[in-house]
Amino acid sequence: MEYEVVKLKIEMPAEEFVKGYVDVPRFLSCCEKCPGFGKTWACPPYDFDPVSVWSRFSSVMLYGKKLVLGESLRETAMEPEALLRLSGFIFENARKALLEELMAMEHEHIGSLALSAGGCSFCEVCTRGEGLPCRLPEKMRYSVESLGGDVSKALRECFGVELKWAENGRLPEYFVVLGALLKM
Ligand code: SF4
Repeated sequence: MEYEVVKLKIEMPAEEFVKGYVDVPRFLSCCEKCPGFGKTWACPPYDFDPVSVWSRFSSVMLYGKKLVLGESLRETAMEPEALLRLSGFIFENARKALLEELMAMEHEHIGSLALSAGGCSFCEVCTRGEGLPCRLPEKMRYSVESLGGDVSKALRECFGVELKWAENGRLPEYFVVLGALLKM
């Protein structure tokens, strides 16, 4: 598929990130409106305070990718269903690849924790619905947003990147996926 990948990476003290970019009540109320709310162990509501996760670490490395789509992908307008399918395909592949990279970094940095971009889709049906523990705790990671992180603000202020959406049946100019590595 024709697109150019631009890496996004910046590191700052965890305290600074929490002060500038974490607002748990605001993002919890956004998550409550999502159909995925409470459906997987990687989504709120949690039985812990998300702020307690950020405060265990001394720094936050934001790490993401901007996928700049080629003109050939954007020149033709699509039906809503096809547009949704193609957007989902591009985003999901980028999200999975990003998490793999972050997990490799987590492995290299003792005591670190990777945060994904978006929810968990490892299992066809999550065990949460049955009240059973997560099937793959070694793989499942919370997303930045689900712990109250303001991804849109962080992208804008740290990288000068605005989130873009599909419009008039056409793919956006680019997609962005943003995760993080929390370091001790
Ligand atoms: S890894 Fe599977 S069981 Fe665990 S949160 Fe994700 S979907 Fe649910």
